[in-house]
Amino acid sequence: MKHLVVLTGAGISAESGIPTFRDAGGLWEGYRIEDVASPEGWHRNPKMVLDFYNQRRKRALEVKPNRGHEILAELEAHFNVTVVTQNVDNLHERAGSSHVIHLHGSLFESRSTVDESLVYPIEGWELNLGDTCEKGSQLRPNIVWFGELVPMMDAAIQYVTKADLFLVVGTSLVVYPAAGLVHYVRHDTPRFLVDTNIPDLSFSGSRFEVVQDKAGTGLEKLKSRLLELA
Ligand code: NAD
Repeated sequence: MKHLVVLTGAGISAESGIPTFRDAGGLWEGYRIEDVASPEGWHRNPKMVLDFYNQRRKRALEVKPNRGHEILAELEAHFNVTVVTQNVDNLHERAGSSHVIHLHGSLFESRSTVDESLVYPIEGWELNLGDTCEKGSQLRPNIVWFGELVPMMDAAIQYVTKADLFLVVGTSLVVYPAAGLVHYVRHDTPRFLVDTNIPDLSFSGSRFEVVQDKAGTGLEKLKSRLLELA
């Protein structure tokens, strides 16, 4: 089977009812990114940061995967699919995708603030001040914040360099290093993009077949084209 690598962003979860942040003027649910998605924000006000992710987690548990997530899962019948997502929700997994790399971490994991190798699943939706790791330190969301290293980047690069087909869905391609993955696609690999608002792709130096549409309907249109190349 050919290897299809899909890079997804907040846009693929928009139809499930999880807003993207570029569409909200650079705010994430009304919060400034630097307050809730940076180490500085955490040090200033850990309670606000925990509350923010508790609300995101609660919301993510209430919503369902949409047709876009489902189509990517269905493509596993025809391709060896790796989903590299910038999303911190778990909608790809819930739709049935079996190989998902979370570049920016997961809403459903916590990690120690003294030893980042200590990662725990979060049961339910709350992580609070006073919840500690086995070494006694406060737990934080296992989310990659702005200014932090992206530990899964190397694994993602390995998959992208081996891709036979490359597909981008619902990302503004402005958050680095994730957007830089585009540079690792082999020059002869066919590449596709589905987004309601086509990002500036000139930086990639390569040509994409573009479907300007919502993730669900856009992927439905693209599916037969992808299957021709299976
Ligand atoms: P972004 O908000 O910067 O860009 C969203 C992209 O999705 C835009 O290009 C927009 O045109 C497109 N879009 C909007 N609605 C769409 C739809 N229905 N179908 C297809 N495309 C649609 O998102 P990003 O590039 O992923 O970067 C945002 C960062 O914020 C990521 O790092 C991510 O971790 C975080 N974030 C995650 C979630 C989530 O987990 N669901 C939600 C918001 C933000």
